[in-house]
Amino acid sequence: MRKAMVAGNWKMNGSSKEALSLVRGFVELQQAGDAGDSNKVGVVLCPSELYIPQVKSLLPEGSGIAVGAQNASDKLSGAHTGEVSVEMLLDVGCEYVILGHSERRALYAESDAVVAAKVRQAIESGITPILCVGESQQEREAGVTMGVVERQLAAIADLCGIEAFGKSVVAYEPVWAIGTGLTATPEQAQAVHAGIRSWVSSRDAVVGQGLQILYGGSVKASNAESLFACEDIDGGLIGGASLDAGEFAAICRAAG
Ligand code: PEP
Repeated sequence: MRKAMVAGNWKMNGSSKEALSLVRGFVELQQAGDAGDSNKVGVVLCPSELYIPQVKSLLPEGSGIAVGAQNASDKLSGAHTGEVSVEMLLDVGCEYVILGHSERRALYAESDAVVAAKVRQAIESGITPILCVGESQQEREAGVTMGVVERQLAAIADLCGIEAFGKSVVAYEPVWAIGTGLTATPEQAQAVHAGIRSWVSSRDAVVGQGLQILYGGSVKASNAESLFACEDIDGGLIGGASLDAGEFAAICRAAG
């Protein structure tokens, strides 16, 4: 049985003071039992990489809360001004890294090939990628949602082999639902999640069955339960709502 996961993508928000108060608030709720059962739901916090060491230092031993980054380089070291390598992320205690987020694909021109190179580097270094895939509004209206998602998955399988999905988490994030307040209905999300699982399973049944597939796109405490109740939705990647400790804890509770 797959364990649920809820990851909070804080994006480029807040100060170190705000980041620390958010973590303290969440930890308090978790310790009071208000963020679900940590045996049933894994929680990942993804702050700005600058704040990772501070965030990490506030997590109590055995809390089950992991830390992730929001991006990483496909290179390991050297003359790459401004980049951060996966080994640097591991060095400060990161266990996960979000790769291929639609904001990186759209605003920083990350192609499927670039995302695949980053996923390969992450897996080779032992950090778990949270690979984001998803279609734009235009692509959904044109009826090519699964074609787009399968193309994004195939870029990874072609470069890294299907086994890469045994060492990754996938987040289905329809671009039209990110930060817009529009959420995919549980039926829309479940259909794509089932499609992703079946695409991976047809290449490796064991990897497909074990793959954690998160949904992301305007998830809130009020809609989390109905989304997470779907058979192939194993939790969520949460943007805006992860900046509120109480709301994020309630989403974790819905997953756990
Ligand atoms: C995201 O950016 O990964 C995301 C899901 O954002 P939001 O929850 O704000 O739509």
